Amino acid sequence: MKTLNEMKISFKSKSENEGFGRTAVCAFAALLDPQIEDIADIRTAVSEAVTNCIVHAYRETEGVIEITARILEGNEIYIRVKDRGCGIPDISRAMEPLFTTAPCEERAGLGFAVMESFMDNLKVKSTVGKGTVVTMRKKLGGNNE
Ligand code: ATP
Ligand code: MG
Repeated sequence: MKTLNEMKISFKSKSENEGFGRTAVCAFAALLDPQIEDIADIRTAVSEAVTNCIVHAYRETEGVIEITARILEGNEIYIRVKDRGCGIPDISRAMEPLFTTAPCEERAGLGFAVMESFMDNLKVKSTVGKGTVVTMRKKLGGNNE
């Protein structure tokens, strides 16, 4: 799919940057003149992905979170959230609804389920000790649809 526009940001895995990350992606997605519902979905999905980097990937440490977003031909947005943190040993298990490695912190284990349901497509690649890359895509309905 042809890329029509692209942006990249990187920031420290501080919890106060979670809002910055999701807002930056939403500002970029706004170039597509999307519906409010689509922006709300993207905001939630990016928020879950970035929070996972902060609380899981860089648990007890601090690292860099990189986000790449692309506007693809056909009114589609592509978002990639990358960390160089601890990695995920069993991705399919981690993606199961209600699976969490942090139950004592009142995590519901629903972040991936939320990303999956709010976006059209979700892919997770991860290497233990090297980090994780989450990619999501969503086709946006135009305002005149
Ligand atoms: P919730 O998102 O509901 O607060 P959660 O973060 O535990 O809870 P998910 O977002 O679905 O649930 O993630 C499931 C599990 O996958 C996490 O508990 C964690 O073990 C692992 N995980 C997710 N993202 C990462 C990441 N970027 N790096 C390392 N581990 C991750
Ligand atoms: Mg989560």
